[in-house]
Amino acid sequence: MSEPVGAELRGVAASPGIAIGRVHLLRREALAVPERALPAPQVAAEVERLHAAAGHARARLERIHRSVSSFELPDAILRTQLMILEDRQLLDEVARHVRERLINAEWALRIEQERLNALFDAMRDEYLRERRTDVNFALRQLLLSLLGRELEDVGALDGPTVVVSHDLSPAETAQLDRARVVALATDAGGRTSHAVIMANALGIPAVVGLETLSATAHEGDLAIVDGRAGRVLLRPPAAAVRRYAARARQERARERALLRCADLPSETRDGRPIELRANIERAEDLAAARACGARGVGLFRTEFLFMNRSELPGEEEQVRQYEAVLAGVAPWPAAIRTVDLGGEKLLLPGLRRVEANPALGLRGIRLAALPGEAGARSSLYASQLRAMLRASPAGTLRILLPLVTGVEEVVAVRQTLAELRGELEGEGHAVAERIELGAVVETPAAVGIVDLLARELDFFSIGTNDLIQYTVAVDRENEAVAYLYDSGHPAMLRAIRAVVEAAHAVQRPVGVCGEMAGDPLYTLLLVGLGVDELSMNAPAIPRVKRIVREIEQPEARALAAGLLELRTAAEVGEELRKEMRRRFPDEFEPTSRVP
Ligand code: PEP
Ligand code: MG
Repeated sequence: MSEPVGAELRGVAASPGIAIGRVHLLRREALAVPERALPAPQVAAEVERLHAAAGHARARLERIHRSVSSFELPDAILRTQLMILEDRQLLDEVARHVRERLINAEWALRIEQERLNALFDAMRDEYLRERRTDVNFALRQLLLSLLGRELEDVGALDGPTVVVSHDLSPAETAQLDRARVVALATDAGGRTSHAVIMANALGIPAVVGLETLSATAHEGDLAIVDGRAGRVLLRPPAAAVRRYAARARQERARERALLRCADLPSETRDGRPIELRANIERAEDLAAARACGARGVGLFRTEFLFMNRSELPGEEEQVRQYEAVLAGVAPWPAAIRTVDLGGEKLLLPGLRRVEANPALGLRGIRLAALPGEAGARSSLYASQLRAMLRASPAGTLRILLPLVTGVEEVVAVRQTLAELRGELEGEGHAVAERIELGAVVETPAAVGIVDLLARELDFFSIGTNDLIQYTVAVDRENEAVAYLYDSGHPAMLRAIRAVVEAAHAVQRPVGVCGEMAGDPLYTLLLVGLGVDELSMNAPAIPRVKRIVREIEQPEARALAAGLLELRTAAEVGEELRKEMRRRFPDEFEPTSRVP
């Protein structure tokens, strides 16, 4: 094959690692939508045809769902698609277009799809925008059924394959031969897109947001995917292939070596334990957490349980989830965060509220601390807190409260917990004797009153993602001010030090559960600032542990003290990078030097 040498595309680094393989293009054929006017007497039959097609599409997705366990396609993705096709409101809207406009179901479906896409266009939250892909894939399944078509063929793969696509549909992905896919690369997508979830589940490199990749690549092109640098090289010169192949071998060897340390203790060379825990979103994440050596769960974000559904999860369903997590990590603790709905995370249709400034609105613990039936006694919180208490005998439960800004919020939840405990015991349920209660320190108010909160709480976990946003007054989703969003801001360093000092004065442990905890660049600094625990996405644990095991407290403290003297985030970042590169050249080698 004669291949003109090279194109290099840059996108969003979504899953680390290097892969070299041949491109397989997943191109979805544009489906022609027939447009027919309907005589009024045919409307009822057309609506029936719509419902039958939805049933057919659901059955097809269920078949895929049952057949994919070997591929390890995250269950939740397919369930989301099924739920969209089960959504009565959606089908009712399409049926309404059929009735009111007297048009065929395919046409009506396209009108509804355009309307939904316009709504998605208006959303700012990256996670929500990504859900547009879910809706469009589900609607495509429905359209295929209306057209009397079956699932599209993704084609056979041969040898190590880089799957290239505009975006990735779960149904298509499910059909790919897992043994041959070495990397995923897509035009579309942010950090929460399917390709990212898939790649993380499969442990393969991925780059998303490459914009023009699927138009630039040809079937069978040689491609290098550098998931850490967010780069894809098409038809690379032989020398680049050799260099990347060598680096891929090195990375794999390092990865294996790091994973071999999964069972070694996480403690500094001079013997201070730094507990490394996992951030999870569902019980299924525990397998990866264990494999990476997590000791316990430092943050279970329970919002996932509440997403993409029309009704609140019931108490029983929650008990099962929480028990699975608690038992799965015992004897280590699991910190389950009460649902952090509100602001951009308000995802239940019944709870949707329009706020001019949602980041500062009714969210987090504020919803639980509302008086009476609206707050912790509402069906939302009471069922969650009851479920946590009922699950507590399965392991070591820590309850984590998001967005705390005042002592009274904590007091209100504590009071409700005591009442619920009494009720549950009266109903014959066992509840663990000791359950720790803690707060996510993610507002400057919480930082300022840690000593007061400590009287009501057993532990603290610094949520740096929000703490940066609220400290520097920078919307964490707003690209225009992203340059100001910096973990190394002197105000952040001071805040972390202040929290540790106040909490340690009364023997309360302090963890960090924001993204900063999983970035090895900050490990030495956080240890130097006195943090006791770091909780992160599981794949980050081996790298962070390696650093913890190679440092000593006095040098960490000296580094932190030095950085606390600096005046700007840029100075802190520069100094920190220089120091970490000197100590761990293999970890902090600038990626730009490689090709
Ligand atoms: C945080 O704010 O740092 C945090 C851990 O929570 P989330 O990212 O879910 O807001
Ligand atoms: Mg937060």
